[in-house]
Amino acid sequence: MQKTLEEVEGRLDAAENTVSSWGPVPQDPNLADQHVHNVTKFREGLSDLQRGVDDVNDQAARFSAHNIPLAADNSTRLHRLNSRWKNFEGAVNDRWRQVAGRSREVTPLTAAQLGSSVSSPWERAIATNKVPYYINHAQETTYWDHPEMMSLFDALADLNHIKFSAYRTAAKLRALQKKLALDQANLQLVTDVFDEHGLRGQNDRLIEVSDMVVVLSTLYSRIASDQPEINTNLTTDLCLNWLLNVYDSQRTGQMRVLSFRVGLVCLCKGHLEEKYRYVFRLIADPNRLVDQRKLGLLLHDCVQVPRQLGEVAAFGGSNIEPSVRSCFTKAGKDRDTIEAVHFLSWVQQEPQSLVWLAVLHRVAASEQIQHQVKCNICKTCPIVGLRYRCLKCIGFDMCQQCFFEGRSSKSHKITHPMHEYCSATTAGDEVKDFTKALKNKFKSKRALQKHAKKGYLPVQTVLEVSSSSVVSPQCKSVLI
Ligand SMILES: [Zn+2]
Ligand SMILES: [Zn+2]
Repeated sequence: MQKTLEEVEGRLDAAENTVSSWGPVPQDPNLADQHVHNVTKFREGLSDLQRGVDDVNDQAARFSAHNIPLAADNSTRLHRLNSRWKNFEGAVNDRWRQVAGRSREVTPLTAAQLGSSVSSPWERAIATNKVPYYINHAQETTYWDHPEMMSLFDALADLNHIKFSAYRTAAKLRALQKKLALDQANLQLVTDVFDEHGLRGQNDRLIEVSDMVVVLSTLYSRIASDQPEINTNLTTDLCLNWLLNVYDSQRTGQMRVLSFRVGLVCLCKGHLEEKYRYVFRLIADPNRLVDQRKLGLLLHDCVQVPRQLGEVAAFGGSNIEPSVRSCFTKAGKDRDTIEAVHFLSWVQQEPQSLVWLAVLHRVAASEQIQHQVKCNICKTCPIVGLRYRCLKCIGFDMCQQCFFEGRSSKSHKITHPMHEYCSATTAGDEVKDFTKALKNKFKSKRALQKHAKKGYLPVQTVLEVSSSSVVSPQCKSVLI
């Protein structure tokens, strides 16, 4: 730990030196662009240092979990490192806001611009609390939903043939994510936009529709500057529509800032673990600790995402208390608070209330992956997307479509344990699976079930087929 601490301190020294070498913010707008670029690049490079700081804290937490007290000296140094890091991060963010503000002012979309997100016979109208609604003049009807949101929801019904709720939910969320172009919004961009609009530390405050429009306009105009094909009027309006459906179904015109941020973070593009770390930091106090109430709020806001799709039942319903309790068991007995390391080790087991998010990341990560094998059910070759290999039948592979539909064959039963691949496999994996399959062949069904239950409970619980199980490799570092 001493070594990691020293190393992180050294890197922080260097980073602080770089920052102090920056002069005053350039007034010349032409220079400002270059400056934004430099600061942006510098901030991107900081995620490594952030990880270093997290690591030292995680290590310290692990010691205290085993009742090993830290040497007084190390504890003071860790404390100093954390406050230095906080100040440093604040300074870099301030700098970024200053230079970014100078170079590209984004004017939020006007009502007239947002109005162009629909065309005749539709009209976008605004209620007194600024909430948009949509009028169909041909049918003389009004709706809270944008016409494209309604057709998206009709299309999502086609995914109801997917037998397993976590996969069904993930497939729907993936379609939604693409429609809202949030698959183009990476986590760093999303959190930058939050910071730029002063949403930091405002979790319990309410955000009004007009302010949501400001934040979303900025987000989508940034995305559109790299992806000109993105229609900012439409995506801003649709994303607002989605957030209101999830967190303000009564259309009061406001929601908690925390909800607004959590919703966008869930569906944006990024590493799953970084998302988890980010949402934990969102709710943590200055000592990087989270109590039960805060964790409850966070999980509540997370499960609203599948709930809006009518998919909450399989994820423990709206009651998040059991999840909070199960997460707190990671911290040991009678603890009032948890640290990031406890939360992360809990989410890594894909708890029932969050498994849809992990599966969404796997579905997205595997979307373009080709596996050079044939599906033993529908004969498709190569398999594209997730690939499933039976651990009981020898050399038995299935494609994502067949697995999702719960198809079986003469020899292969739906109850067989499966291995899920979300990346192309290496020869080593094949051999491992082959030996596993051999072993399974000689095991009784009962023993197999017992084994499956013991090792792979979290995913199994959402598969809705009591004796079926899927082993999924850790894929958390894959970008979606
Ligand atoms: Zn198939
Ligand atoms: Zn099988």
